[in-house]
This record gives sequence, structure tokens and C-alpha cells, in this order.
Amino acid sequence: MSFKSLGLSENLLKAISKKGYETPSPIQAKAIPPVLEGKDVLASAQTGTGKTAGFTLPLLHILSENPKEKFRPVRALILTPTRELAAQVYANVKEYSEFLEIRSAVIFGGVNQKPQAAAIRRGVDVLVATPGRLLDLQNQGLLSLKRVEIFVLDEADRMLDMGFLRDMERIMKLMPPKRQNLMFSATFSKDIRKLANGILNHPVQVEATPENTTVDAISQKVYRVAKGKKTGLVIKLISEGNWQQVLIFTRTKHGANNLTKKLASAGITAAAIHGNKSQGARTKALSGFKSGKIRVMVATDIAARGLDIPLLPHVVNYEIPNISEDYVHRIGRTGRAGASGEAVSLVSADETSYLRSIEKLVGMKIPMEIIEGFEPDPNASTEPVKQGGGRNRSGGGARNSSKKSKSNDSKGGNSSNKKRNNRNRNRNKRSN
Ligand code: ADP
Ligand code: MG
Repeated sequence: MSFKSLGLSENLLKAISKKGYETPSPIQAKAIPPVLEGKDVLASAQTGTGKTAGFTLPLLHILSENPKEKFRPVRALILTPTRELAAQVYANVKEYSEFLEIRSAVIFGGVNQKPQAAAIRRGVDVLVATPGRLLDLQNQGLLSLKRVEIFVLDEADRMLDMGFLRDMERIMKLMPPKRQNLMFSATFSKDIRKLANGILNHPVQVEATPENTTVDAISQKVYRVAKGKKTGLVIKLISEGNWQQVLIFTRTKHGANNLTKKLASAGITAAAIHGNKSQGARTKALSGFKSGKIRVMVATDIAARGLDIPLLPHVVNYEIPNISEDYVHRIGRTGRAGASGEAVSLVSADETSYLRSIEKLVGMKIPMEIIEGFEPDPNASTEPVKQGGGRNRSGGGARNSSKKSKSNDSKGGNSSNKKRNNRNRNRNKRSN
């Protein structure tokens, strides 16, 4: 199987080989042909398996085959849930279209809209966008989607998690009903299938790997540990293991900030990345981390999906997620594109039930270890700590108030949690 045999144009093949890709990944091999045929496609594959090229390459092929007009309306819209992801997909679109006469642009919130609006005015064939900014510009009359031929929903599950369902429905109404629809996701939940029914037309469904399984190349380990000893343990693991590039997930933004400070005082360079950080800070943290200037990046789940950090060797779940699918996404940040990686989870007594659901989802028992001096607390309750009314699909790392994260034992009332989650959801949406 080669990219050439998939029927992609010479100019695309040139860009692909410049990127260093030799053979299509399994999801690319399965998704590219039906997309080229103009079919609606529902595609699922693990993180890091090259889904972006799976839709971008055939999309570019189709657009460059068909005549373009002088006035360049948006002909392809790629919707992504987060700014980072939008920027990343856009970077890929640019690279793959280097030898084509295709113009592209990216729009997302948190930055000045003027350059974005100007780019659209000049005319773009491919637009990569987050929902909030897209609707914003549309409402101001700065953007039309009336000529969209291909619509891509990337990281569809994350889109739902972040509460973008309404926005997606609104965006759908702005496009002509006759168009090609592509939906890509790492996991396929019931909600996703429901969403797919509403968007896709007799879709071809492709799947590269069994659902919700973790990449074989990732070695996984659980450390049972007392809650209060997690920071000490993570410092020990990083220092003694001489880990140089580590992504740590915390449940809350406040927790991320806290841990970042403690790592810094232990002499480990670290930066936090989450929804409360300005776009500038997020971009800086990510580039510092990628270049090796920053040894540890502490992130909430907003960073978990879609970020392409090549060859990341270590992922740590400082707290394990209460939504099991998030575990798959988080550890998918390591072992990318065939490289091996290590994912460790620090699990305290109250997280026992989350661990069980994760093990059920991934279909294996994760090897467990206890480190001397960092033993679990035998008297701690295994009752799960209430998490701000649960995930409630609000996602984006904004799911907990900082008050809650200060005291892990506080138990918020349900109605106030609901309000809080709604608030978080709105904030989340606005920030995108
Ligand atoms: P996903 O969206 O499935 O999580 P990405 O599209 O972000 O994954 O791709 C993950 C990484 O794999 C990127 O660094 C990308 O450049 C690389 N990649 C994609 N396709 C190929 C390929 N055919 N051969 C080698 N590397 C690839
Ligand atoms: Mg992706």
C-alpha cells in the first residue's frame, strides 16, 4: 500500500514525501479512498494514528481537482474543538498543500480577529476553525459558509465533551445541505453515533483499530499512593528516572498551577497549560515543551486531545480521569507514530472505582506497583471524591472550580455544582 496507489495527485505526493511519510497509516489507507469518492465518512482510530492527513489529503485532492473561482469562497471547513488543535491542523493543511494552488486560513478565539477576518476577505479555500470564533465572525457578517462543499468535524468526541453541540447545530445550518461530511474521532460513544446520524449521509464507516484500546507500544503502570504523597512521588519518578520530557495531567486548573510551582521548587522546569491561560501563555508553554526548554508540562484535559507532541516519552496521570475515555486520550500522547512510551498513573484510594472502569474500558489489568516511602494510606476511604457534580461533559479542564480543587475533600452540593458546570461550559465556549 502506498500513497500513490490511493490515487492522490503528484503535488500531494510531493508534499507527503517532504513530510517524510512513507506509507499510509491504517486509518489513512481506509479513509482516503471513500473520501476521494465523495462519500460521507465516519472514521475512528486511536490518537496519533494520522487522522489529520486521513481527511486533509483527500480533501485537498478534491478541491484542487475542481475549478476554483476568482472570488474564493470557503469550500472546505474543518471544525476542531480547541485553539491548539486548530493551529496544528492548519499547520498540516499548509504543509500538505505546499505544492497546490490552495489557500487556507485558521480562526480561533483568544486572539485579535482582524488578521483572521482579513485572511477570509482575501479568499480562502480551506478554513480551519473553532466553533466560537467561527460563529462570531459569521454573526458580524465577515464570513460566509454558503459555498462549503466539504465539512470536517475533527475530534468529534471532544467537541461534544466541550459542550459545542448547539454551536455545531448552528454552524450546520449555515452550510448548504448538499455537501460532503467527514467525522473523525478517537473514540466512538453513543453520543457520537447519534451526532453522526444527524450530520452524515449514508456514511462509510471506517475503523483502524478496535475501539477504546490503548496503543500497544505504550507501557502502562499504576502506582498506588497516598493522596498527600503524590507530589513527592512524581518528583522522585522524574528525577530518579531522569525523565526529560514529561506530560502530567491533573484534574483541575488549580491543581495544575499548584503542581507546576512545586516542581519548580524541586528544580524541575515546568509550565502549566489549561483553559485559564492566555493564548500566548499556552502557545509559549507548548513550544518551550516541544523544544525541550521546559521539562514538564502540566495540563488539564483540554490539552489531552489532538495535540501533536512528537515522540513524547512520558505521560503521568497525577489524578486519573473519572471519564474513562479520557484515559485513552491522555496516554495517547505517548507512543505516537510507532514510538514507544510510558504512561504512569498515580492512584489514591478514592480513585479506585475510576481505575476499575478504565481497566474495563481498555480490557486489561494495568500492572500495579507501590514505591517504598510512598505507600497508599490504608485508612483512606475508597469513596470517590465528588468532582464538582461530575464531568457533565463540560470538559476543557474547566470542569472544577478552584475552590473545589483547593480542598479535595470538599463536597459541593449538587445544584450549585450544576450551575458551576454550566458556567464553566459557557466560559469554555467563549474562550474558544
Ligand atoms: P491523530 O489525529 O490520529 O491523533 P495526527 O494526525 O496528529 O494523529 O498524526 C500523528 C503524527 O503522525 C503526526 O506527527 C503526523 O505528522 C504523523 N503521521 C501522520 N501520517 C503519517 C504517515 N503516513 N507516516 C508517518 N507519520 C505520519
Ligand atoms: Mg487528531
